Amino acid sequence: MTNREVAWMRSTLGVLVDQLVPASVLGGRTAFPLLSGVDRDLRDCRGAGAAAVVLDSCKSDLHDLLLHRFPPPAAQALTLKILNLCLGKYHFRARDTVLLSRPFGLVVDPSNMCELACPGCVHSDRAEELKLFDWNKGTLGEDRFKALLRRYGPSAIGVYFCNYGEPLLNLNTPKLIRLAKTYLMATALSTSLSVRRFDAEAYVESGLDFMVVSVDGATQPVYETFRRNGNLELVTANIRSLVDAKRRLGRRTPVISWNFLAFEHNVHEIPLAERLARSLGVNLFRVVNPFDVGWDDPKIRPAAVKSYVRRMDWTSISNPPENWNPFPESVEADTIASAFAVPLNGRDGGTAPGSGHTCHWLYKNMVMDAQGRILPCCGAPRPDANLVFARFDAAGDDPFNSEKYRQARTFFRQGAAPASVPAGGEPYCTQCEWDQETVNIGGPEIRRYFRAADSSLFDRRSLGLLADW
Ligand code: SF4
Repeated sequence: MTNREVAWMRSTLGVLVDQLVPASVLGGRTAFPLLSGVDRDLRDCRGAGAAAVVLDSCKSDLHDLLLHRFPPPAAQALTLKILNLCLGKYHFRARDTVLLSRPFGLVVDPSNMCELACPGCVHSDRAEELKLFDWNKGTLGEDRFKALLRRYGPSAIGVYFCNYGEPLLNLNTPKLIRLAKTYLMATALSTSLSVRRFDAEAYVESGLDFMVVSVDGATQPVYETFRRNGNLELVTANIRSLVDAKRRLGRRTPVISWNFLAFEHNVHEIPLAERLARSLGVNLFRVVNPFDVGWDDPKIRPAAVKSYVRRMDWTSISNPPENWNPFPESVEADTIASAFAVPLNGRDGGTAPGSGHTCHWLYKNMVMDAQGRILPCCGAPRPDANLVFARFDAAGDDPFNSEKYRQARTFFRQGAAPASVPAGGEPYCTQCEWDQETVNIGGPEIRRYFRAADSSLFDRRSLGLLADW
């Protein structure tokens, strides 16, 4: 075993021990006493203004606690991220319509384009021919992304670089990932890897934590039945070069997850694909139950198999601690310090508490496409589906509280869109039947994030308070 492998083993085992044996049992300090006190006080609050006062008053204690474990900019960033989660949780429980909190997860398309044409996607032949979706080409510029990070980066815990576009088609994506890491955010993306220009070293060096590679077959004819225009040989060559680059640079990130959508036409190739993934050096192999795409191509039908995850090597964990802050010298200390100086109760917003079902997306994540359109979730806008909630403008108002966002939250809060909304102008949420509980960056990602930061300080009970809502 090499020295590096021994170090990995220690950090991986350390995370496991910290989660199984609370630090308090070993005489260590955890964040739980402070977080549980805050949680209790927030439950008694009647209104977001009061909740903001509670959080502002615990800010310096929380910051002091973190300063014992982290350098100053990281301690400030973590304070902001934790306070934002607590406030978001308060708003969610109260079913508020105007939020003082920010989205803790960002979903961003570096490119709106894709060269594949998978059934069910905005890029499928049928979707394009019939112009079913309101989806235009575009590439995300660095300035727009920097502005998005300046506003949301200090309080967000993660960014997922993919919605409907192929992120690798933007040759600047590694730079965007690195920018997100300077705000201490977890980073992940999803790709077909069926791309001709792929700089494997740039992705390893970007600080990317996690890469999903979507490969639904082990032979070209079966693979391309769904991944239309995809080239399996190119995919496997790119995986090989990524694994080689990780080895060469001595990194265990990005963790590579081979995701296999199980359809009737490809289910027999799962064992072969699993062996291929293992031989290529992939870290995880996942069999995933796909959405029904029968509306696009009735021949493509989901298979009746159970989803599962196979860990291919024991040294990989999804968010390795050594990658939580991979560029300490480049942390956006000034922007974080400016955000830290602003009290939560200095922001506008807040409504009297409500109750009843609501959609988690509207409180937790925010989606931006490569053209800067703000979408509330991963649904694709259509001419008959109002899903463009704002347009991101660096100097403009907070898009997370745009009129459409407020209308959507009000719809769930009172069971109807506000009377002032003209017929036909309602957000799509008023007729949505999608999964409204599973967001891209949610409870599991919050747990992984804080475990990677410090699995001893953020013990199991602390993680429960931060993640379970
Ligand atoms: S209600 Fe539906 S359309 Fe609206 S944000 Fe939630 S999942 Fe998206």
